[in-house]
Amino acid sequence: MSLLYNTLKRVLEAAKYLELDPTVLEKLKNALETTQVRVPIRMDDGSVKFRSALRCRYDDTLGPTKGGIRFHPDVNADEVVALALIMTIKNALMDLPFGGGKGGVAVDLKSLSKREQERLARAYIRALAHVAGPTRDISAPDVGTNETTMAWMMDEYSTIVGKKTPAVITGKPVALGGSLGRDDATARGAYYIMQHKAHVVGLKHGARVAIQGFGNAGQHFAQMADAGGYKIVAVSDSKGAVHAPAGFDVGALLAAKLHGGSVTSTAGSPGVTLISGDALVSVDCEVLVLAALENMVHKGNAKSIKARLIVELANGPVTPEADEILNAMNVLILPDILANAGGVTVSYFEWVQNRQGDRWTLDEVHARLKTMMEKEAEAVWASARDKNITLRKAAYVLALARIAAAMEALGTDTFFKD
Ligand code: GLU
Repeated sequence: MSLLYNTLKRVLEAAKYLELDPTVLEKLKNALETTQVRVPIRMDDGSVKFRSALRCRYDDTLGPTKGGIRFHPDVNADEVVALALIMTIKNALMDLPFGGGKGGVAVDLKSLSKREQERLARAYIRALAHVAGPTRDISAPDVGTNETTMAWMMDEYSTIVGKKTPAVITGKPVALGGSLGRDDATARGAYYIMQHKAHVVGLKHGARVAIQGFGNAGQHFAQMADAGGYKIVAVSDSKGAVHAPAGFDVGALLAAKLHGGSVTSTAGSPGVTLISGDALVSVDCEVLVLAALENMVHKGNAKSIKARLIVELANGPVTPEADEILNAMNVLILPDILANAGGVTVSYFEWVQNRQGDRWTLDEVHARLKTMMEKEAEAVWASARDKNITLRKAAYVLALARIAAAMEALGTDTFFKD
């Protein structure tokens, strides 16, 4: 089933725990606005290529829509809409004054030079500037985009509107109004929750961690977990996976990734063996971190998982069928909308700083992030305990209740039937 189907299913299941005005679900079944445009990329050889670019603003009840832009060969409309819905739920769960959005282009960045990448980024925002804006739709990095992509887009948008507008996009370089602490915020948010709940989950010093996906989130999580006394025993990227039962030298993994390299190049060093990318999820470990793409754990491989805790750093990495299997196996899942919400939370901090013309210290960012992550984690845990449901379901219920309260504040069906 598609990510959109799966996500809507999760929303409908959460709704069973709430007494919602029927219009709430009616509204959430469809996106507010999805824009698809053709963008040109002038190639270095003088030719021009065209790509389809998308931006979905799923719902703006809680505020301007907010969410990243993905550049990846598999991007499609269904996925972008689903990811925008996930952002809507995530932002509500974190109590941010934002609705949810997502953008994307189906493109293989590895086939583009730096100059072609810049032209694509600028063409994307030129074609979609009419739906963007600091109080309308605020973008950020996602898979395949980074702070430089955000810098180009902010620069182009500012030129179009004739005003410096840093708050139209977050995840910018610090030199251009980015927030300190945004680069590792996704991993840090998850790490704060894992540490906060380590006693409940039964994680001890030296617990073994396997990480699927070694992009921004996976790399930062590995560094934090390593520094915190965990042992990184397996890592994968798009080229394959490596296994080191006695633990990796994380510095060597990071060095292997430099300049577009792969973690697989560490295979053959003492204690490190090459395994297939698919085998990573079934490695013997206590914590499995899913930091790649959606639908990576499904009914075909869920049973092979040995970890007791799954941390979803990617969006939608576990299918609903796999959820059921893992639940029956007593594997605890820290769901994406909570586990990876540190990224958008520090994006929110960046937006606030830009709008106020302020700059916060790194300590301030970390302290605020920790407080917010722990607060929502506590709320999710308490609701899961009270209702005897999974953390994922509890997180969806809490988020949906916030969205519903805002929708209902405009008047419910009952209110108008007098
Ligand atoms: N792309 C990230 C996410 O999926 C961050 C979004 C943002 O910062 O707006 O949560």
